[in-house]
Amino acid sequence: MKPPFDLGEAAGRIRAGERAWIARAITLVESSRPDHRRAAQSLLADLASGSSGLPLTTRVGISGVPGAGKSTFIDALGGRLIDEGHAVAVLAVDPSSSRTGGSILGDKTRMTRLAADPKAFVRPSPSAGTLGGVARATREAMVVLEAAGYDVVIVETVGVGQSEVAVADMVDTFLLLTLARAGDQLQGIKKGVLELADVIAVNKADGSHAAEAWRTARELGGALRLLGSADDVPVLTCSALEGSGLDEVWAQVVRHRSASDLVDRRRRQLIGWTWAMVRDTLLDELRESPAVRAVTPSLEARVLSGELTPGAAAEQILGALRGA
Ligand code: GDP
Repeated sequence: MKPPFDLGEAAGRIRAGERAWIARAITLVESSRPDHRRAAQSLLADLASGSSGLPLTTRVGISGVPGAGKSTFIDALGGRLIDEGHAVAVLAVDPSSSRTGGSILGDKTRMTRLAADPKAFVRPSPSAGTLGGVARATREAMVVLEAAGYDVVIVETVGVGQSEVAVADMVDTFLLLTLARAGDQLQGIKKGVLELADVIAVNKADGSHAAEAWRTARELGGALRLLGSADDVPVLTCSALEGSGLDEVWAQVVRHRSASDLVDRRRRQLIGWTWAMVRDTLLDELRESPAVRAVTPSLEARVLSGELTPGAAAEQILGALRGA
């Protein structure tokens, strides 16, 4: 089948920053149709060619539970970065949006400043499919946007589930936005997410909440040191609404990024993405294989009745896949 548009023309127009073509290219990389996948790979190869291989762009992940203030924060921070001369792209990883039927994150209506700014590109989470599929589409959209000249890419995700791990794997620096909670502030944050964080900011440090936010930041810093994971993870306070503390948070993101071995990190990510795609594709094939589906119910029943060990059943499922 023919690609949905002229790929050679697309590469040129994307490099020229034409928004309609950027949007079409992202729609293409989001598609799981095999012919679209092939077209997307050829476009991505074209877009990546000629790049120095050096990490010239800044990729930042931002996580936090719904209501933590992510979109307010990204809108305000993105506006400042644009004022400094950057071009800012915002992507989102939210696999749950396929269940709710609409994208929760990266919604343009939640980022009014950026949505109206020609130097910003805001794209909601792809709403199709598994976390693996959503993460892949987001990584590939990142390549499109960087080729189009966006030098800061922000990837937003919610503070629940596995999506943080996927986002931490595609960015240079992972920022956790959290809120003041009296007392047991660690309860509200999954320990795994804390371990992924390179920078932590306690948001809504304004008005009557300011003192509580400062206290939470201090306690969180202390708790991190006790956990032994305080690899210098800075804990700051900010108010996305008032704009205070944002410059300091960004300064810490930049500091983390320049202190890390970015070339090595991105090389590891490239190899990791390669194998993630192999795993995801194999899993899809497994799920969709008629031969596997045909044997699965009886094999499961035999495992449950004790007739087969799980290991023997797994062998037979794989045998069905390979023979298919
Ligand atoms: P998200 O779900 O994490 O994207 O959170 P939103 O950015 O949508 O913010 C949730 C609510 O908190 C909104 O009503 C915001 O106006 C409010 N909010 C966000 N940041 C701040 C802040 O720094 N201070 C205060 N007081 N409210 C904030």
